[in-house]
Amino acid sequence: MPDAVDQFDVAIIGGGPAGSTCGTLLKKYYPRLKVLILERERFPRDHVGESQLPLIGQVLHEMGCWDAVERAGFPIKIGATYRWGSTTNLWDFEFVPNGILHPEPRPAKYAGQRKSTAFQVDRAIYDKILLDHAEGGGCQVRQETAVRRVNREGDRVQSLVLDDGSEVTARYYVDASGHTGILRRAMGVDVQSPTSLQNIAVWDYWQNAEWAVSIGVGGTRVQVLSQGYGWIWFIPLGPERTSIGLIVPAEYYKQTGKRPGDLYREALQNDPIVSRLIQNASPEGKLTTTKDWSFLADRLAGENWFLAGESAGFADPILAAGMTLAHVGARDVAYCILAMERRDYEPEWLRSWYDEGHRQKIGQHIRFADFWYTANGCFTDLQAVTRDIARDAGFEMSVDEAWQWLGTGGFVDADVVGAGLGGYSLRAVKDISGNFLQSGARYEAAGKNVFELDMEGAEKAWGAKLENGRITRHRCYRRNGRIIPNTGLYGLLIKATNPRATGQEIWTRLAAVAAEARMSPGELQHFLNDAFDAIEAMITDGWIRAFYDPSLPTLQAPDALGESVVHLNRDQVTTA
Ligand SMILES: Cc1cc2nc3c(=O)[nH]c(=O)nc-3n(C[C@H](O)[C@H](O)[C@H](O)COP(=O)(O)OP(=O)(O)OC[C@H]3O[C@@H](n4cnc5c(N)ncnc54)[C@H](O)[C@@H]3O)c2cc1C
Repeated sequence: MPDAVDQFDVAIIGGGPAGSTCGTLLKKYYPRLKVLILERERFPRDHVGESQLPLIGQVLHEMGCWDAVERAGFPIKIGATYRWGSTTNLWDFEFVPNGILHPEPRPAKYAGQRKSTAFQVDRAIYDKILLDHAEGGGCQVRQETAVRRVNREGDRVQSLVLDDGSEVTARYYVDASGHTGILRRAMGVDVQSPTSLQNIAVWDYWQNAEWAVSIGVGGTRVQVLSQGYGWIWFIPLGPERTSIGLIVPAEYYKQTGKRPGDLYREALQNDPIVSRLIQNASPEGKLTTTKDWSFLADRLAGENWFLAGESAGFADPILAAGMTLAHVGARDVAYCILAMERRDYEPEWLRSWYDEGHRQKIGQHIRFADFWYTANGCFTDLQAVTRDIARDAGFEMSVDEAWQWLGTGGFVDADVVGAGLGGYSLRAVKDISGNFLQSGARYEAAGKNVFELDMEGAEKAWGAKLENGRITRHRCYRRNGRIIPNTGLYGLLIKATNPRATGQEIWTRLAAVAAEARMSPGELQHFLNDAFDAIEAMITDGWIRAFYDPSLPTLQAPDALGESVVHLNRDQVTTA
């Protein structure tokens, strides 16, 4: 039995997207680091979680493997078609304006319209591309090597014991072991499940299912189809292979007394869209069942360890956000370790920045997922569950209360990425909630024209910008758990509205900034739309008070400009 102790700078448990992202970025920016990735399985191996969000493209690009992923030819996800909400009408959520993907040969570059799209990935292929890329970048990768035990002393990890009995030590440890959360458990970190949703998922892969819709070169939408008692996902992974899954509440599953396979087959056969798409297809016979209960770890970092990816938390797959959280969180962990190595900032601040920020992101996803379920009037059999969620949140489905509930925790991103919730832009959240509530998107800033800054009681804090392997801190203000950066667009708006300004004065100021930056008309339009969103987020988070003066012109909501990301389905997704 080997008894030598292997020593590394960073030991990462798990070679999924979180582990590969963290390892790749550590080596990219600090090649001297000795980084080890331990993976229990031999890749390729199947894994659920295929439908991505556009933000992942940015991380893949930074990792230097967007081109390799694009070369694999995965379908381009330009959005999703839903049967969800107050009617059984299909509606689309688009990542690209009006759902138009301009014809462009593949493989394409990470540029132009492709920055707004995402991939639908076959995880067997995708995870291997990423792990190989991490290895190519200098990480030592050991597959078929499971961590069996974590030795600890207080809040420090001392070593990892592998399945062959050998031991590995490192200066930093990263738990990227997904649902297993082996290090999280060993460190005694509890998890909370801040939701009443307790679903189970049943899925299989299918050969030769039709795509519901083909857009441009290789583009499509995933299908999310409510069944009244649960919902079906339909995710093409390539020309031949499709992932099809069913999600139902655990309680419903128990009540039916049916076996998962029977429930699954019945659901697919009874859905008019899915049954048509699979009429000439066959399942691979890999039927898998799992529970998918949202959870959030109590803390994400300790003395010499971090939790990244799903070991840190999990939000119901309805928002297809898991992979985005895994990639983004793992990138943040890599940046923290890099900053610790260079002694850029105090380790305590770095740990709390990651812990607080990433826990908030996961928590927002869980809350947004709850909203999504609660707002599904098509859930006839699920009404008791959705009522419970609504009750827990004090949510009565009125527009105001829905909005207030979604807004708890803040829309403004302290790290100046923009305004939004759970990885969705503020505009998308407004469009989606407006669609669910049949009220249309409602903007507090629309129809107002006088804006007053309210910083009373705010304290100074730090936000962070991540670029080229370095964290740059910037000043923020914090009040009642909400935070606003005093830099970038927000910094500009803080100045422009201090102490009070008309809409016209703010716009003049923004136009001057745009002129100085020599923005093109297109860039200017984006800039002004972003500014509108930022003002809206500042009003919702309480940093700005907005009034209406009848003698002045008012601000217009972006949806009045025909920019909604949500609309009734208008293409060939039919039941015919
Ligand atoms: C039903 C369902 C549907 C989902 N749908 C989506 C979706 O549509 N879109 C989306 O973005 N996300 C989705 N997700 C979430 C997504 O699967 C995860 O967020 C993602 O896989 C997390 O990546 P990760 O790297 O943290 O963990 P994983 O991908 O799980 O990787 C962890 C790796 O660690 C390895 N490992 C575990 N234990 C050990 C050990 N002791 N030693 C060594 N190695 C170990 C495992 O073998 C694995 O390869 C879904 C999840 C579920 C359950």
